[in-house]
Amino acid sequence: MPIKKVAQEVPKIAPLPGYLRAQFIRCGRSNCHCRNTNGHGPYFYRVVTVRGKKWKQYVKKDELAEVQAGISERRRQLAEVRQINREARENWRTFKVQLRQLDQLMRLAGYDV
Ligand SMILES: [Zn+2]
Repeated sequence: MPIKKVAQEVPKIAPLPGYLRAQFIRCGRSNCHCRNTNGHGPYFYRVVTVRGKKWKQYVKKDELAEVQAGISERRRQLAEVRQINREARENWRTFKVQLRQLDQLMRLAGYDV
């Protein structure tokens, strides 16, 4: 099967920032079992930091897998960008060293550089 065809058939995961947090809630009713247990739940929230402020968004149980996939996808993309940047920095360093070597060689060869 051609590569292009495969790429078209793989569903695209929308990257999502943040992370998932499970929370247990105490409802406050005096006769509820949650007073003496962990509470109701777990309920899941996606926590996102925007300009230093944390926001949380409730995630329904049937959306949990999709949201987790989105969060993983974003982390994968960020790791990829970091790797590309690392390689670019290394290439730049190598290029500068080569440029210096070329400069020295040209001076040795009598060029006015
Ligand atoms: Zn309760």
